[in-house]
Amino acid sequence: MDPEEFRRLGHAVVDWVAAYRAGVADRPVRPDVAPGQVRAALPDLLPEHPQPLATMLDALDCVVAPATLHWQHPAFFGYFPANAALASLLGDLLSGGLGSQGMLWSTSPAGTEVEQTLLDGLAGALGLDPGFTFAAGGGGTIADSASSAALVALLAALHRSSQQGSSTSRWRDDGVDGGERVYVTAETHASLAKAVRVAGLGARALVVVDPAPGTVAMSPDALATQLRADAAAGLRPVLVCPTIGTTGTGAVDPVRAVATTAHEHGAWVHVDAAWAGVAALCPEHRYLLDGVELVDSFCTDAHKWLLTAFDASLLWVRDATALPDALSITPEYLRNTATDSGAVIDYRDWQVSLGRRFRALKLWAVLHTHGLDGLRTHVRGHIALAAELADRVRAEPGFTLAAPPSLALVCLRVDTGDPDADDHATRTLLEQVNASGQAFLSHTVVDGRYTIRVAIGGVTTAREHVDALWEQLRSTARTQQAGLAPGS
Ligand SMILES: *Cc1c(COP(=O)(O)O)cnc(C)c1O
Repeated sequence: MDPEEFRRLGHAVVDWVAAYRAGVADRPVRPDVAPGQVRAALPDLLPEHPQPLATMLDALDCVVAPATLHWQHPAFFGYFPANAALASLLGDLLSGGLGSQGMLWSTSPAGTEVEQTLLDGLAGALGLDPGFTFAAGGGGTIADSASSAALVALLAALHRSSQQGSSTSRWRDDGVDGGERVYVTAETHASLAKAVRVAGLGARALVVVDPAPGTVAMSPDALATQLRADAAAGLRPVLVCPTIGTTGTGAVDPVRAVATTAHEHGAWVHVDAAWAGVAALCPEHRYLLDGVELVDSFCTDAHKWLLTAFDASLLWVRDATALPDALSITPEYLRNTATDSGAVIDYRDWQVSLGRRFRALKLWAVLHTHGLDGLRTHVRGHIALAAELADRVRAEPGFTLAAPPSLALVCLRVDTGDPDADDHATRTLLEQVNASGQAFLSHTVVDGRYTIRVAIGGVTTAREHVDALWEQLRSTARTQQAGLAPGS
């Protein structure tokens, strides 16, 4: 394929994406597909001889699109959004077009410095402490995911911890269980437990701290008690992870108090704000970041709610040397004068893998074409829709809020009047909505009870879609109740 042919076929591919997005609202959100169905329907994916791109696009139309859960559908309310604005796709194309490999500054000077500049600028736009910028000795990077960000934060914390106290590292001396401890809550994202595993710490390294009474948020008092007890037992508090906007219910841990307590015991504090953090672009939601100026690292995903196509997770650290100190290994073939000068950032030292894409371009494209004001409007719109939905749930007999609404997330349950019947009714309701293809919801468990999560955040999600969802929830629940009523 030469550039001229690319130009022609590229138009066809852009046309395909444009038509898909233009028509996605008319498709069922969730496909009706059985395991193995796609494999059975696919054409030969390894032809011996070149084939026209058009036949591949045909297969996308006939096999792939009909078997896709449409995350970009305006009635997709499941999990957290992965909203991918069209502008970000263009940025992604530009990144692929340059085809650079940004492992070192010297292998992609522009890639490195665009990313640094964006992350410094975004730190300001979010109201993060200036200490997280490169100018002040900190800095940010674009990781592939919040999970990877948590892992590298843990590796930096382990490294820092192994340098503290005695000159010989307990970690090495004592083998797998050197007494490292990582503190989370029951609501913390599973990626922290996974990071503990990947880092080679045993399951007992993960300590679930009790919540404050009547909440699901980490109790600073319980954390303090636990840290004192663990330190007295000779264990090593390595990392504490408060969450801003938990995945289940959007709960917020008290970062300031947690960070103060954690630092008394020398632990690294990593804030996981994967979904909610971007709301801090709006000054009225900046209270969310209270205490973040005290922590060691902070992560929020641009690929959930900030219109940037997966993958783009923003990670900031207060100490720009922390990740390289933990992760840098330099074989001869990567040596270069720019690195030796100490004047550049080599982003390979901020992540697990060596190679990396120019992810900054898709984020730049989003910021450039939407503007900060456009992004704030987008976030505010979703939060307003969620507030209205929560009001309707509160006012509706037969429904109840399962947790206080958080930003653009509403957690609700069916309230039949019989607690034993609620779980079944709520689960059935979710299954009926998802089977209808008119909307897509996912669930969690709150206080041991099955709960529907409505996460509002699609690029094109508007009032009409939330209205339609609510009408469907009400009418479906009513029909269900009528069906259960004695004698009917
Ligand atoms: C979604 C989520 C994650 C994981 O995000 P990835 O970027 O997909 O790894 C981590 N933490 C929280 C609170 C989340 O909501």
